[in-house]
Amino acid sequence: MKKNLNTIVLIKQVPDATDVKTDPETGRLIRDGAVTINPFDMFAIEQAIQLKEQYGGKVIVLTMGPPNAKYSLEFCLAMGADDAILLTDRAFAGADTIATSYTLAKAIEKVPEFDIIFCGIKTTDGDTGQIGADVAEFLNLPNIYYVNKIHEIAENSIIVEKQFEDRMQVVQSELPVVISMIKGANTPRFPTLEGKMEAFRKPVTTYTATDVQADPKQIGAEGSPTKVLRVFPPPKREKGRILPESDDNIAELVQFLKEKKFVTE
Ligand SMILES: Cc1cc2nc3c(=O)[nH]c(=O)nc-3n(C[C@H](O)[C@H](O)[C@H](O)COP(=O)(O)OP(=O)(O)OC[C@H]3O[C@@H](n4cnc5c(N)ncnc54)[C@H](O)[C@@H]3O)c2cc1C
Repeated sequence: MKKNLNTIVLIKQVPDATDVKTDPETGRLIRDGAVTINPFDMFAIEQAIQLKEQYGGKVIVLTMGPPNAKYSLEFCLAMGADDAILLTDRAFAGADTIATSYTLAKAIEKVPEFDIIFCGIKTTDGDTGQIGADVAEFLNLPNIYYVNKIHEIAENSIIVEKQFEDRMQVVQSELPVVISMIKGANTPRFPTLEGKMEAFRKPVTTYTATDVQADPKQIGAEGSPTKVLRVFPPPKREKGRILPESDDNIAELVQFLKEKKFVTE
């Protein structure tokens, strides 16, 4: 059985769903309103802390975001993570998933040793679900998506249970590995008062683009083949009409379908 399992957890700070604002100029999300930790990441951080309680070792939380993303890191430290890394630099702004993953990988290259990189399956804002696989690609590591349960961790390998369409699969991989935890895989804990007190004493390391020796051509908007041109709410859907099932309503239904051009003469 493995001893001292070191893990890194990727978390993203996202706009609180009640306060999503976009910059009319850049089309980018404004990230200084109400914010929260991406809900899907809570299952990743909880899994890492549970494994630390079982195997020992260290949990590092890592995020790329604006300076106020420090608050989300401190919440994870209060839950039980040991260290935190904040990747923040104006040069990272406007990053798409490739540029974000490259930047995260550069920060992970500075972590001496780790066995598992945990992430959520997706975020509530970008919602691409691409980062885990992209980070694994940049670090040339295996990755397993939609993991529901960790069965066994040996010195250099891991056995997990993952969701695959409508059934579960048991998969084995070598370590280190990138794992995205599925929603509902566990019950994330709330930080205790003691945990919050301890969090103040735990280090938050801040990295800029220079600190991680990032190639300026591969970060931020410049390093992003994908440009988010505009973010806007979908058009409001008009209220549907309910027609009780009766022969009398057939003519009205046909008329309605014709109006909507679902049927022609
Ligand atoms: C509305 C909107 C649409 C977008 N559409 C696209 C698009 O189509 N293509 C594109 O390339 N980019 C897109 N982006 C940009 C993209 O959101 C950012 O690159 C983002 O940082 C990562 O993508 P994601 O939010 O989709 O993450 P996902 O891939 O959905 O996140 C998966 C997991 O990766 C980790 N993670 C994600 N972001 C970070 C971070 N910043 N720091 C640490 N861990 C992280 C978390 O564990 C998360 O659960 C979009 C952004 C917005 C706001």
